[in-house]
Amino acid sequence: MTLDVAWAIDWTRRSARVVTEHREELIELDRQIGDGDHGENLTRGYTAVVARLDALEPAPVLVGDVLKLVATTLMSTVGGAAGPLYGTAYLRAAKVSATPVLDSAGVVALLEAALEGIVARGKATTGEKTMVDAWTPAVEAAVAAADAGADAAAVVAAAAQAAAAGAQATIPLVATKGRASYLGERSAGHLDPGAASSALILQAAADSASA
Ligand code: ADP
Ligand code: MG
Ligand code: MG
Repeated sequence: MTLDVAWAIDWTRRSARVVTEHREELIELDRQIGDGDHGENLTRGYTAVVARLDALEPAPVLVGDVLKLVATTLMSTVGGAAGPLYGTAYLRAAKVSATPVLDSAGVVALLEAALEGIVARGKATTGEKTMVDAWTPAVEAAVAAADAGADAAAVVAAAAQAAAAGAQATIPLVATKGRASYLGERSAGHLDPGAASSALILQAAADSASA
């Protein structure tokens, strides 16, 4: 599909579905190196997002209208680290997506802005075992795909694939940001929950683009 407002809506609904489907798994990951609420936090947040999307009047016209609604809803309904991090990501992404349709450069800009938002908020860099380790390779893969002439849907697909690999690559890392950092060396050997949920959300974006 064209990456228009209908895609943004589908991506949002699909994210809610996927996060809810993986609720237990995200809780279990967070139980291992955090406080066990990540799956619950995101399910609550995205459920609220879908409720507000259903009630949104007038209907959104720009991709950024949808992303802004996701941002403000996640910020106000998700406690803990993930709410402000994802909220800032969507807010920055919304600002660069004030358009009815995204081309491949537009998708790259959206993803870059989201990563910048996460970094601005959380001050993490790569290798610290956070969602940044999923988003950074996602952005790099998106840039490479766009440079190679990929269309917008293929750019999102490349980003999703790189995010999944980036999330898996958090397993051996020692956390130095967020709650998992309290465990020190004992955080190694576990998949970071925020990187895992980021990979799910980006895969949802790709699945909506190819639907
Ligand atoms: P909390 O840790 O407050 O319970 P969540 O469990 O919802 O919040 O989210 C935890 C996830 O947030 C981590 O797995 C990690 O990916 C991400 N995270 C935590 N702190 C940071 C940070 N400073 N920068 C980037 N991501 C972070
Ligand atoms: Mg937690
Ligand atoms: Mg918590």
